[in-house]
Parts: sequence; structure tokens; C-alpha cells
Amino acid sequence: MSDAKFVYSFGGGTADGKSEMKNLLGGKGANLAEMASLGIPVPPGYTLTTEVCTYFYDHDRTYPATLEAEADAAMAKVEEIMGTKFGDPTDPLLMSVRSGARSSMPGMMETVLNVGLCSSTIPGLIAKTGNPRFVYDAYRRLIMMYSDVVMEKAAGIEPEEGQGIRQQLDRMLEEVKEKGGYASDADISAEDLEKLAEGFKAKVKGVLGKDFPDDPREQLWGGTGAVFCSWNGERAVSYRRIEGIPDEWGTAINVQAMVFGNMGDDSATGVAFTRNPATGENKFYGEWLANAQGEDVVAGIRTPNPLNEDTKNDQNEHLPSLQVAMPEIYEQLFAIRNQLEDHYTDMQDIEFTIQDGRLWMLQTRVGKRTGTAALNMAMDMLSEGLIDKQTAVLRVKPEQLDELLHPIVDPAAEASADLIAKGLPAGPGGAVGQIVFSADDAVKWAKEGKTVLLVREETNPEDVEGMRASVGILTARGGMTRHAALVCRGWGKCCIVGAGTLDIDVIGKKIEVDGKVFSEGDVLTLNGTRGLVFAGELSMIDATENPRFVDFMKFADEIRVLKVRTNAETPDDARTAIDFGAEGIGLFRTEHMFYGTGSEEPLFLLRKMIMSGSESERRAALDELYPFVKRDMKATLDVMGERPVTIRLLDPPLHEFVPQSADERSKLAEALGIDAAELDRRAEELHEMNPMMGHRGVRLGVTFPEITEMQIRAILEAAVELRQDSKACFPEIMVPVTGMKAELEDQLAIAKKIHAEVCSKYGVDDVEHLYGTMIEIPRACLTADEIAETVEFFSFGTNDLTQMTFGFSRDDIGGFLPDYLDKTILPVDPFQVLDRDSVGVLVATAIDKGRSTRPDLKIGICGEHGGEPNSVEFCHMVGMDYVSCSPYRVPVARLAAAHAQINHPRT
Ligand code: PEP
Ligand code: MG
Repeated sequence: MSDAKFVYSFGGGTADGKSEMKNLLGGKGANLAEMASLGIPVPPGYTLTTEVCTYFYDHDRTYPATLEAEADAAMAKVEEIMGTKFGDPTDPLLMSVRSGARSSMPGMMETVLNVGLCSSTIPGLIAKTGNPRFVYDAYRRLIMMYSDVVMEKAAGIEPEEGQGIRQQLDRMLEEVKEKGGYASDADISAEDLEKLAEGFKAKVKGVLGKDFPDDPREQLWGGTGAVFCSWNGERAVSYRRIEGIPDEWGTAINVQAMVFGNMGDDSATGVAFTRNPATGENKFYGEWLANAQGEDVVAGIRTPNPLNEDTKNDQNEHLPSLQVAMPEIYEQLFAIRNQLEDHYTDMQDIEFTIQDGRLWMLQTRVGKRTGTAALNMAMDMLSEGLIDKQTAVLRVKPEQLDELLHPIVDPAAEASADLIAKGLPAGPGGAVGQIVFSADDAVKWAKEGKTVLLVREETNPEDVEGMRASVGILTARGGMTRHAALVCRGWGKCCIVGAGTLDIDVIGKKIEVDGKVFSEGDVLTLNGTRGLVFAGELSMIDATENPRFVDFMKFADEIRVLKVRTNAETPDDARTAIDFGAEGIGLFRTEHMFYGTGSEEPLFLLRKMIMSGSESERRAALDELYPFVKRDMKATLDVMGERPVTIRLLDPPLHEFVPQSADERSKLAEALGIDAAELDRRAEELHEMNPMMGHRGVRLGVTFPEITEMQIRAILEAAVELRQDSKACFPEIMVPVTGMKAELEDQLAIAKKIHAEVCSKYGVDDVEHLYGTMIEIPRACLTADEIAETVEFFSFGTNDLTQMTFGFSRDDIGGFLPDYLDKTILPVDPFQVLDRDSVGVLVATAIDKGRSTRPDLKIGICGEHGGEPNSVEFCHMVGMDYVSCSPYRVPVARLAAAHAQINHPRT
């Protein structure tokens, strides 16, 4: 590491780095470098690399030996470009210290601005700017940020609720405003700000027991250490868990010359998106504030102004746009917007500051967007010729489709509903839930199984866990570029911000609006697509078929090679899945016909069969059950037509079906002609210590061949009858929970016998079908070459395979998984995301072995992983033929399969 470069300079039309260097420079640093090289006005500065962060954590929070000298040299370059010096009493240069991870983590880490202001530099800056008000305002902001970020948070001090130094200083600020009769921060006089800064310093000393540092260099390195520390702050860690960002990545830090949007009326600051991030509309969209610093816009303290005339909304139409207030600057910004979109060929999220009529770009990054916006932008940019088809397909994340297919509030219900407020449509779709007023309550209520809406005056990045736990978020303040809005959009979560007419009392846990009161637990409905808040519960409908979505999915289908089937066992689910693009059924769980409405009679007969005392009794019960089983299989085969349908033989341990209620038990005893004691005895016999590894799956068929016979007869007779009615159908018989070839031979003999009987009954030579097995036991994976000699297809049951591989009970994992995730012993739940290192190795081994003895072996997956994008990619990479998932996940799997083919092409 001795000759490693830790510091990269940018500014003055050149840069050491470029946009491809995100891993080293972080997203922000890499893009600042890129913008500088493109000749876009960027305040000069330098980036401390992510390697410095990893070094910092690996070496007890110290820096590489060469860092300071490198940073000094980089600072000298900044000084040269700016013509001022850091710490110079007559003409001081001020710096900002900001985090910048590889993958953007909006608002999750810390920032210190105005670094370099102290008793020796304040007079010089006042003399230079002639604006003492501005200087003292910058100074009090520095004290607030520094004491909060460096002296409290980074020092590991955990104050009581409401007693953080920042909150204490905020209260002092409020007092000054109240006393002086100031309407907003911007109105406070220079004298009051100067006094306030002195008061702040005394408070900091009193509360934290240390002086606020009066030395620019100490401030600079204090800020640097604190920003690195914020990589491991609570909210950054939570956010990384949710977003799956590895802890080892670390953050870079950008130290950059300050430019000021709060120098007077010729100064301003703003944030913008090159297109609308909520809808995707190709309009330059953003917010700005005159005479303010960047944090004022994102913190939602003042309602920001619209960027241009075209994108005004109900909340800001009375405010002046930048286009009208500063037309020349707006034109320059608009040209930069076009330059950035052409250069990056994607929607950018930008920050800018105007200092004394001069525009500076502070940031550009790929903008977060809703699923709807992602789809619309991808399709627009494709037709604009900005991107090609593959890129368009990659622009929508598979997870975002969930949101496109999410329910919306029924417009018919809305027409007659009680509209209580309007806000900004910050996150899409509809949400109905009980209101709660704190992030902690949201988490708690959600754990209790309640559906909650989180209501806040404004959300802070600290609220991230609560936002996650809620189905929707509602705030009274903040704009579309508010952190809450950004985060929700990233998640595709319903969110309304800036519903200003709501009087939200988080302490009293109630909302007042127009004389009405809504308390904790009351139900509201949010329309996040239009920003409407309704009292009570409104009905939801599925988002209507969007022609752009259909076209987009066509592109994805043209690209992918992996087929996508569904797990379904009713004609209704089968039809839904076909509408979502399913190409077959990969798992028809026979036992599901005994659950839910309409299943009473077959369930009773199944129970009779289970509780039979002899083979003849069992056969009699099976004969009664048979017509129901055949009827249900036939109905689903009929809907699926020529698409293959994998029907799995009965899997669960039989005792699961033993009735619990005395009434049902006595009915059953009567039907079997036995007394209650005998029934209890038989039920007791079925009880197992470890049913998941007990008498289930193929083992049932081995000990009770008549059960297998009945099911195979139902499948084959259903198929012949459909074909004799000139209907196509294609059944695949699947044996579950096998571990040995011999088990499959045993069942195959039964299948052959029944096949011959069915052929002779219907006078046909053959009933075309496939015979295959689930692979869900490690032994089956390891002996897959032998197993493939007997069967024509494998379907990986990765639910059981994960259970058997980890030795984690799939039904009891809730008791310990949260701790495993918190302690990062596991990065994710292995029942959701296939563990490539273990289960994946077994799967790959089984595929290799299976195809070694049967090259045309058909291979799929039907565990829950079949609809999870990362796992779908894995299935593609190991050469499966199809994945199978629940109907609503089918589009997600189709898109994930297309992404997998683009990223890992397979012929
Ligand atoms: C599996 O184990 O992955 C599977 C699909 O079967 P089940 O969930 O029904 O056990
Ligand atoms: Mg299973």
C-alpha cells in the first residue's frame, strides 16, 4: 500500500479521476471528477478514497502515513484555483467535507460545511464579503453541524431523546427567532447571529465538556474522521442492510471549496432531476431556494420554489420559478442538464448552487426513480435513440415491477371518498393502513401483524426502519427531493410529502385537519401517485394493463433464454399466471386442493383415507377421493392447454391433516365405523417427533403404494379425457422428497402399471407425460447421476434443500434469523435469496451429474427462490431450463431472466 494514491484532485477543468472509478472515489467523487473534466463548473476539491476508509477501520481509526502530505498538496491546488488560502486570516477559503459511497446512500451519512471559519478568519471574510450576516450565519451552521457530527455522534455520545446537541442548539435558534420576531432563519440580523454563535459555543462546552475547535486544520481533520465514522452510524448500517450494500465497501470523502447560496438575493441553491423521477416525464424537474444553503432544500424547512413554469404544482404554483427569477442562470443550468443526459445517457439527480449570480454544480448522480418512471424513461430514451434495447431492459430493476403491478386506489371509490388533504406524490401506488406517529411504533405495530402508515411532520433519515415497516408514508412538510421521498421512490413505496394542511402532533399522536381529528390506529388511504389523502379505507384495484409495460416485457422476453413457469394449483391462479406470462406450471402442489373454500368434502375423504386402519379401508377411501382429485387436476390442465404442468404427488406428513376439533373427529370416527378412542389411537400413531424429516413425500408412496396409484391414475385419466375432447395438455408427474434412485424406481413401477391400465381402459397406446423428481435433499444432489437414469426431469425444491443444507427449520427460522441478520452472520435470509456458496454448489453439482447420464434432462426450480432476481440469475448461470414462482412474481422472474442473459450470455 506504500505507493498507493489516496487523494484525487478535481477542478479547474481537469481531474485525476473519472466516472468509472466509483469503487475508489465513491459515486459523488467519481462524478465530480467527470464533470470537472467535461468543463462543467465544479468547485475545486479532492477526494479521499474508499481505501482510506477501509484503512481507517482496519487500523484503529488512523490514517495511512502518506495521507496528510497528499491532502496538503491537493489543498494547495484548490487554493491556487480559488486564489484564496485555507486558514488565511485576510481571505480565507472555506471547505466542505462530505461522504460519498460507491452506491448512493442519500442522507445516511454526515456532512460538515463551512469548515475553516474561526476567530482568526471571520474578520477577513467579513471584510471580503462586506456581509457580516452571511459570515455569522455560516459560522453558526458550522458550530451546529460540527458539534453534532464530530463532537457528539462520532464521539459515540448517545444523548437522551430530544437532548442531542443539535436539538438543543435548534431550540436556541428558535428562541432567538421568537424574541426578535423573525419569521424565518433568513431574517435574523447579523448581530443576533453573532450573539447566537457565541451562545452556541458556550452551550457546546457546557453540554459536551469541550471547546468548539478554533483552528481550521483541526476542524478539517475532525470533520474527516467524523464522516468516516458515519459510515458505521446506525442509520447508514440499517440502510446498507436493507439495500444489501456490503460493509467492507467504505465511503470516500470529498473535501471541496465552499460556494455559497446564502450570500444574498443573487445567490440560491437547488436540487433537480433531468426528468421527473416520479412519472418519468421528460421534463426538467426540481426545486430551489433563494439565499439558502443546500441543506435547507433537502431538509424541508422551507417550501422550495419550482425550477420552471412547466412543472409547477398545487403546492408551489404561487412561488417564483428559477426560470423567471434568474433566466440566464436557468438557461445555463438547462444546457448542463442536456449535456449531462447526453453524456451519461440516463436521468441524473443534480445539486447546484448559485453564488453572486454564478452557477456551480455540486453533484450529479444517476437519479433514483419509481418503477413507473423507470419504465417510462427507458421506453422514452429508447425512442429518443439515447439507449439501445438491452440498456432499456436493464434500466428497470426486476423488483421495481412489483411496484408497477401494485394495486392503486380505485378511482371510482375515490370519487365519493372523504378527501382530507393534498400533498406531493412522492412514491407511487395506493396504501391503506392504520396511522402511527413514530418510526419505532411503525416497526412495533408491523411486527404485530398490523398494516401501518407512518405519519410524521417530516421524516428524518433516522426513520428509515419505520418507513420500511410501513405500507405508506405521509408527511406535512418537505418536497419531492426530500430524503424521505428519495428513499421511498427507491423502494417503490407509497409516499406523500408536504401535505401542509395537516396539523400533525406526534407527541399527542393525532392529526387535525379542517376540524377533524385522526388518532393513532385510525385508518387512512393514500394515493401516492396523485398525492391524495383520504379518511377511512378505500378499495384498491390492480394497475391497469399498461401498453408500455407490455412492450417492455416483450423486449425482455426476446432476450431471455430461461423459461418462466408458475406455482399454481387452481384454474384461477393458472389463468392469472398466464396473464402475467407464465409458460407452464412448475409446481402443482396436490395437497393444496385440501385447503380453503370448497375443500370440505375432499378433505373429509382424505382424512378418512389417512385414518384408515388397513389397506382395504384405505383403498375404499381413496376410491371415494379419486373423482375430486381427478376433477381438480383436469380443470387446471385444461386451462394450461399445451403448456406443461408439473403435478407433484402428495408431499406433507399425513398427521398435518388429522382433524383437531372433537366434532370433526367424531364425524370421522362414525364414517370409519370406529369409536373415538380408536380414532385417537390412530391419530397418535401418525404423530412424529420430526415430521419435516419424517413420513412425507415419496416415503408415503413407498409405504402406501395405493396413494401413488390413485394420484397417477387421476393425472393420466384427466390427460386422456382432455385429449379425447381434442384439447391439448401436458402433464409431468413429479415425486417429492426423494434421496435415492431406488425410491424413484419403486414409484416408476407403479406409474408404469397404472399407465398400462389407463391405456387399456381408454383404448390408447400411450398417455404422453414425463416422469421426474424434486431434488430437495442433499443426497439427491450428490447422487444425481444415478437418479437421472430413472427420471426425465429435475425440479429443485430449494425450500427444503436450504432447510437440509443449513440445518435450519424453515418453519422456525423466525426465532433466530433476525439476530443472524443484525449481527451480519448471514447477509440475507437464505430462504429468500439462494445461498450460492452452499445450496448453489449442491444445485450445480446435481445439474452436472444429472446431465452426465441424461444430457437432455429437463431442469427447473420450484422453491421460493424461483421468483427472486438474484436467485433467478443463478438459475440462469447454472443452465436450468426454467424457474417457477408464484403468479405475481412471474413478470419479475421474466425480467430477471433477461437481465441475467444480458449480464451472463448463454447460448
Ligand atoms: C421446496 O421444498 O422447495 C418445494 C418447492 O416444496 P415445498 O415448499 O412444498 O416443500
Ligand atoms: Mg419441498
